[in-house]
Amino acid sequence: ASYLIKECFIMAKMYYEKDCELSYLNGKKIAIIGYGSQGHAHALNLKDSGCDVCVGLRQGSKNWANAEKAGLTVKTVPEAAKWADIVMILINDEVQADVYKKDIAPYLEEGNALAFAHGFNIRYQQIVPPAGVDVFMAAPKGPGHTVRSQYVNGKGVPCLVAVEQNATGNAMKIALAYIAGIGGARAGVMETTFHDETETDLFGEQAVLCGGVVDLMRCGFETLVEAGYEPENAYFECIHEMKLIIDLINKGGVGMMNYSISDTAEYGEYVSGPRVLPYEETKKNMRKVLDDIQDGTFAGKWIAENKNGRTFFNSKRANLAKHQMEIVGAELRKNMLWGDDADPDTASN
Ligand code: NAD
Ligand code: MG
Ligand code: MG
Ligand code: MG
Ligand code: MG
Ligand code: MG
Repeated sequence: ASYLIKECFIMAKMYYEKDCELSYLNGKKIAIIGYGSQGHAHALNLKDSGCDVCVGLRQGSKNWANAEKAGLTVKTVPEAAKWADIVMILINDEVQADVYKKDIAPYLEEGNALAFAHGFNIRYQQIVPPAGVDVFMAAPKGPGHTVRSQYVNGKGVPCLVAVEQNATGNAMKIALAYIAGIGGARAGVMETTFHDETETDLFGEQAVLCGGVVDLMRCGFETLVEAGYEPENAYFECIHEMKLIIDLINKGGVGMMNYSISDTAEYGEYVSGPRVLPYEETKKNMRKVLDDIQDGTFAGKWIAENKNGRTFFNSKRANLAKHQMEIVGAELRKNMLWGDDADPDTASN
């Protein structure tokens, strides 16, 4: 296989703080629509970077008081869109198109910018912005709560930047300034397109990060429990330890993990990895997942699922909550204190 590529240098265009001029946000009013995981982080980081920010929410939203308590100005979504020069849409992807049509599009003026943290609605034409506005992406490659905590610690979460429409001629400069404002330029900014960001993000979460990992852990957990081992033991082995292993890989690659684990574990990795995950077959299946993302099949299904009351989604979510690995895990975690990982805001997310 050709994954051992010697001539594989970093080819993507990268930007760092020195390449970003925050002054491109001078005099610009920024509306952050939504105050969830990403919304609270973007709004607070931009405010702390000296930007003119407001948050746009639904009347009666439970987040209204939270945002005000954090020192932010809150308006309704149409008021915020009318007020702003830059509108960053940080509500759920599946509701963005409706909110855009009703509460944002009527107030977009020539020379304004429309911004996203994920390309779904642009890539699959659920939102088609007018020609006179800039359209850019500032997409942190990490959860919103980390975007905030890293910023507060003087660090940042790496980001993707993309420009879909450059009406003002300055869209990239404004996008980079925005990313500097949320702290992302401290870690590095990779230039991409809405097209590539959307497809790689969907693929990553489906094939590896969420779909792949959760099913791998659940299979391992069930195999041990069905063989008669204690569920608590199965939880520790197949679920709890995942983070500790990933932290090592995150820090120093698979090499650092292998250094830290025993040689017995490393030998087991080589002999049993390919047995539980038959390589060529798994890649063929992953390729099919990618095909569905590229040709719009997945997007079409997800849009239809939302129009049809989310019956499949809701039953899956309810069944997962009843799974033994979740019940046992919740009990065990009560007695584990994880310091900075114990983030009550993310617990329900
Ligand atoms: P979230 O679910 O945490 O928060 C969404 C917010 O939007 C909530 O405050 C919700 O109350 C509000 N909202 C929902 N419907 C609304 C409506 N009709 N009108 C007004 N407000 C409404 O969302 P998130 O995970 O922060 O995702 C926001 C965007 O960021 C998405 O495009 C997502 O793909 C992208 N993104 C998220 C992450 C992440 O870590 N969660 C990472 C990268 C990119
Ligand atoms: Mg992602
Ligand atoms: Mg995603
Ligand atoms: Mg072990
Ligand atoms: Mg070792
Ligand atoms: Mg969520």
